Amino acid sequence: MSQTLKAVRGTRDLLPPETALWNRIEATARAVFARYNFGEIRTPIFEDTLLFARGVGEETDIVSKEMYTWEDRARAASEKPQSLTLRPENTAGVVRAYIEHKLGETGQLQKLYYIGPQFRRERPQKGRYRQFWQIGAEAIGPQSAGSESPLRDAEVLEMLSSLLNELGISGWTLELNSVGSSADRARYNDALRAALEPVASQLCADCQRRAVTNPLRVLDCKVPEDQAIIETLPKIAEYLDEDSKKHFDAVIAALDAAGVPYHLNPRLVRGLDYYTRTTFEFTHGGLGAQNALLGGGRYDGLSEAIGGPKAPGIGFAIGLDRLVLTLQGLETTETIAEKINAYIAPLGETVNPAALKLARELRRAGLSVELGDGSFRLKKSFEAADKVARKIVILGEDEVQSGILTVKDFSTGAQTKVPRAELDRFLQQ
Ligand code: AMP
Repeated sequence: MSQTLKAVRGTRDLLPPETALWNRIEATARAVFARYNFGEIRTPIFEDTLLFARGVGEETDIVSKEMYTWEDRARAASEKPQSLTLRPENTAGVVRAYIEHKLGETGQLQKLYYIGPQFRRERPQKGRYRQFWQIGAEAIGPQSAGSESPLRDAEVLEMLSSLLNELGISGWTLELNSVGSSADRARYNDALRAALEPVASQLCADCQRRAVTNPLRVLDCKVPEDQAIIETLPKIAEYLDEDSKKHFDAVIAALDAAGVPYHLNPRLVRGLDYYTRTTFEFTHGGLGAQNALLGGGRYDGLSEAIGGPKAPGIGFAIGLDRLVLTLQGLETTETIAEKINAYIAPLGETVNPAALKLARELRRAGLSVELGDGSFRLKKSFEAADKVARKIVILGEDEVQSGILTVKDFSTGAQTKVPRAELDRFLQQ
């Protein structure tokens, strides 16, 4: 017996009616981004592995453990095969494209958004998949275009708060921090390492390892027993230089002026190496353990890290799967599929061609129509129609001849004779 094939662990099919919700979210995001002058970019789903090694950071969990990487076939025997990777995130790809197409030479700030699947070999659970979707945006450009301004950070955060509100997601929290410049971070890392040395043996096994390899990651630890010690560790705010402090204060002043609420979280360091200064997450209580709806931050050195010109930027990625979960958890969300305008029931196979013609005309007039089949008994047509449509249109030889159709409205139970010329308007009601 042949084995039944299933979607691979950590991947899933999205089916109607749920896909209608996905589309509504994507359409809202596109509309909001357009109002803020962001244009869409679509980058390839796989890239040279080096891009992520340099762009995301070799020390990160994503690059060291979670990537889907393979060797492509060499084009010639003399050539080394190229290592390729399914993108685990989209910022590195966007910045590569920015460099490749010399977008910096326009002298303009580039405001780009993307919507697409990303791939990470994580342990699957609710809200965490191996193929997941992100909606993200980046504002990047030469310094002369104002790309380093704290106003850009605040504008991006204000845009996100508006987008979540417009989607009907209430109860989100903006967690905000600054991780400073790379020099600030290096000094903070040294301080953390020193502070961890005497207490590390009391922490979980992961933290004992992190305390040596990457002390910043200790701040991400979720083990309850470790929290009391972690709270006593030095805070990054104490290690910011004057410029980083000024930048962060300006972001906060602009958010206050715009009335965007936030919560300062000195432990928010995020899992990607490229962040500088502002980092943030929007969380939602309805999500459980995987409570981050989205994350992002400033990455002033990323372009240079992957061989490009200086191009400061700020961006974010929203977990689309998690937006859907959150909206499904909120009672206000319409989860019942919208019914279509009409179901056409041909009486007998000889009427099928006329039924197709009628369906074509109604659909061209903008109505949503399902087409039955003349081989169905009328009872079966009624049952099928009641499930998907608001009204059923009965089409027999008589109706074709007379041009007068019988229409039944499922919500009222009323049966009406409607002349063909009035049918479009009648079905629209
Ligand atoms: P990151 O690219 O790690 O900054 O993640 C940004 C956002 O993407 C997170 O806040 C999540 O909402 C979402 N996300 C990240 N990894 C996954 C995953 N494996 N499954 C579903 N959503 C994810």
